[in-house]
Amino acid sequence: MEKVIILLGKSGSGKGTQAELLQKKFDLDYIGSGDLLRARAKKTDFTGKNLGKVLNSGRLAPTAVMLKLWLDKAEQLRNKKKLKGFIMDGNPRKILEAYLIDEALDWYKWSPKIFLIDISNKEAIWRLTKRRVCKKCKNILPFVGEFRKMKKCPKCGGQLTTRSDDKIKSVKNRLAWFKKDVQPIINYYRKSSRLVKINGEQPIENVHKDILKALK
Ligand SMILES: [Zn+2]
Repeated sequence: MEKVIILLGKSGSGKGTQAELLQKKFDLDYIGSGDLLRARAKKTDFTGKNLGKVLNSGRLAPTAVMLKLWLDKAEQLRNKKKLKGFIMDGNPRKILEAYLIDEALDWYKWSPKIFLIDISNKEAIWRLTKRRVCKKCKNILPFVGEFRKMKKCPKCGGQLTTRSDDKIKSVKNRLAWFKKDVQPIINYYRKSSRLVKINGEQPIENVHKDILKALK
C-alpha cells in the first residue's frame, strides 16, 4: 500500500523540512503546489502567461487550474512502477480543494494520512522573521535546531540572508490567510477523524519521530 501524506501547517511550521525527511525515509514522491504552478507558468500559452501574472502578484491561482495540474501529476504517479507513495505539500489551500482532493484520492484508490504541524502564531512570526535564505540556490534555512548556527548554506556554501518577504506585515497576512482558508480544512479533517495533530514547536527530530509513530 502506498503512503500518501498530506502535510498542513502555517508558514514557519517546518513542514517543508518534515516533507524532506519523510521523502528520504520512505523514498516518496512529492506533489508541491508551488512547484507545479511555477513549472506551468513557464509555458508561453494562455494559462502560462496569465499564471505568471497571478503568481507574481502574490494571489492564489484558481482552484480549477490548480486541480488540473494536480490531477495530471497524480495520474503520472498512479501509473508509475514501484511507487512508494507521495507527500502533498501546499494543498489543499481552501476547503473546496479539500473536497476535490478527497474525490480524486478516492478515485486513484489512495487513502491519505493527514498531519497538522501545529505551531502558535507567536512562534510562526518569530521563526519567519528570523529564518534565512541562500542567495545562490534559494534554499530556506528554518530558524530551528542546528540551522540556527549555520553561517553558510549547507547545500551550496552560498551566503545567507533574511528574506525580504519575511517582514512582519507579510507574515501576518499569511497567518490571516491560514486562519480564513486553512482552518476550515483542518476542522473538516478533524470532524471526519482523519487529522493527526503534531506539536511543531519541538525540535525537528522529535516532530519527525511523532509523525513516524502515527504512520505505523
Ligand atoms: Zn545554497
